[in-house]
Amino acid sequence: MIPIRSPGQLFTVVSLLLILCALVGTAGCLDNKEPQIPTTQTDQPMKADYAPGEIPLLYAETEDRAQVGFDAIAEIPRNDRTFDNTVLAFDTIITDYTDAVYPMQLMGYVHPDSTVREEGMAIEEAMSIFTTETYARRDLYDALSDQIPRTAEERRLRDVIVRKFEKQGLLLDDDRLEEVIRMKNRIASLETEYTANLNSDTTTLLFSEEELRGLPPSALGGFTRTETGAYIVTTSYPDYIAVMSYAENSETRKRMLFADNTVQAEKNIPLLEETIVIRQKVAHELGYDTWADYQIDGRMAGDAESVMTFLNDLKDPLREKRDAEYATLLPIKQRIDPGAESLDPWDIRYFTEIYKTEEYGYSKEEVKEYFPLDRVLDGMFGICESLYGITVEEVDDKVVWHPDVRLFRISDETDGTTIAHLYLDLYPREGKYNHFVIFGLVNGRLTEEGYAEPVAAIVGNFNPPQDGQPSLLTIEEIWTLFHEIGHAQHNLLTHAPYGTLSGFEVEWDFAETPSQAFEEWIYDPAIMESVSGHYTDPEQKIPPELRDRVIASEDFGKGYLFSSLLLNSLQDMIYHSGDGPVDTVRIYEELHEELRGIPAIEGTQQPASFSHLMGGYDAGVYSYLWSKVYAMNIVDRFAEDGMTNRTTGMTYRRTVLERGNMADGMVLLTDFLGEEPGIEPLYRFLGIEQ
Ligand SMILES: [Zn+2]
Repeated sequence: MIPIRSPGQLFTVVSLLLILCALVGTAGCLDNKEPQIPTTQTDQPMKADYAPGEIPLLYAETEDRAQVGFDAIAEIPRNDRTFDNTVLAFDTIITDYTDAVYPMQLMGYVHPDSTVREEGMAIEEAMSIFTTETYARRDLYDALSDQIPRTAEERRLRDVIVRKFEKQGLLLDDDRLEEVIRMKNRIASLETEYTANLNSDTTTLLFSEEELRGLPPSALGGFTRTETGAYIVTTSYPDYIAVMSYAENSETRKRMLFADNTVQAEKNIPLLEETIVIRQKVAHELGYDTWADYQIDGRMAGDAESVMTFLNDLKDPLREKRDAEYATLLPIKQRIDPGAESLDPWDIRYFTEIYKTEEYGYSKEEVKEYFPLDRVLDGMFGICESLYGITVEEVDDKVVWHPDVRLFRISDETDGTTIAHLYLDLYPREGKYNHFVIFGLVNGRLTEEGYAEPVAAIVGNFNPPQDGQPSLLTIEEIWTLFHEIGHAQHNLLTHAPYGTLSGFEVEWDFAETPSQAFEEWIYDPAIMESVSGHYTDPEQKIPPELRDRVIASEDFGKGYLFSSLLLNSLQDMIYHSGDGPVDTVRIYEELHEELRGIPAIEGTQQPASFSHLMGGYDAGVYSYLWSKVYAMNIVDRFAEDGMTNRTTGMTYRRTVLERGNMADGMVLLTDFLGEEPGIEPLYRFLGIEQ
């Protein structure tokens, strides 16, 4: 998901595109906190719990250690410099730093103690500034850039690192470089403030039982109530989806959408618009026409023009598909509201649910009963085992930040050696990040003691067990879980030798490839069946006839969904392709009308909560659609060979997943596919005829 790939964690998103990320601005103050004794966790894959006061202390020590290391590299006399004591040492220091700080940063999103959470959040800005300033050090750049690599692997490492320095502005003179750093640090501060505002948002709506008519009991049961019996509904993902999918009352859905689209409007629109203008200035200083050109240089797309051509080519075919869906939905609305001449933005999800129920004769509630979380996890890990020759088992003896958190060990099937660890934190709780995201926590890399095991955590929000029922997942939720597991495969099966090139530290517009490939696994009939098992009787798989109806219904809605993704991608590209002040709301409204075919809700302030734009996806939202092209090429290959085919799985593991950023994404893909990927698999997936 998010970078600021500075710190290379990857933030991913539910439902193709929703909100992500978070930071809080108050810097942790060492002076007035008594740090407690750190827990001893020597047998654990990483430090996974923190007492109040620990994080600021540990962060300061970690940053100091890194600075001492960098100074030591810079001070080596020119004639004594070697590849080992410069480039390899740099990779080690920066990876030691990230391995230590990513787990602290994670606590900002998940720790049950609000002080620890604030301290975790507070280091995000420090991390961003540290990264910017490190890659702006001329003494380091000089020490690293003239080293001669001995192997192709070393060349890759040196080139990637040196390029990061050069993109930071190392080719500028000192005064202009200083100005770039000043502006970048200002951007980091604005991003922090924007995200902190979203994180601390407490928007709630009160609805009567009547106003929520249509919501299933499982959703109603998840809301707290006021003393007078009103339901308290937040704008968190599960609440939002439940209301928008099921509330019969149109005014209820409208209120929900309006609330969601106006979160932190007054504070965040100015922060975003100021940031966009500073980004333009940075891009100009660095010799680029626009921020989009700056960001995309060095990625798979290469330049902003290629991205715009790709996006614009999708407009017409997606409009046709979307209009065909609207033509199906409008008559359903007219049964309730005979005078209706068009759909409103708060109608789409609701009438899509009704259409699917009527046309395909099933309800999501009925289907969910076949997918209790534990059964799905077992089945899903079983697929990974079949594909990659690994074993996944739960670790009971663990130190974690909350009792809900589970830890899994991934090992080699043949010799049992540990490959990696994965934490799962899947139920909502107060103060926890409220969407879905994966955090890379410890990077894989080759050390003198052998290959260091990578560690990641998936943070999500499934409905917890209630009323004697286990947590039951909708197909959409399973799809999201598979998406994050696709990222996890990429991060945890890495075998790249260098921390800065391992896991999902890849070209930005390649990063969503393994995730958007694996999410499609769930729509394979045999896979869907294999991860099912009724919660009252695990032997009872989803009936084939019901399964087939679920799969058949999947295509409907892609026109709207992908038009929305296109809208967000273009919105981001247009914001970051201009010169001078940008009216973010007006541009959003125009694109909404064009791409969704209906006006945005009046008074919308959607850019105030589109956190991708302030969380590392600036001029990067397009990468979902871009990576989906590669993902569908991969899926098609597996579909030919079998979705659990060990030979194809191992080839994919060796050619793509293991290599991280040791080669360009196009090389990885071509090695796996045997040819360059084409656009056709995406068009076929979308039902677009060329
Ligand atoms: Zn993702």
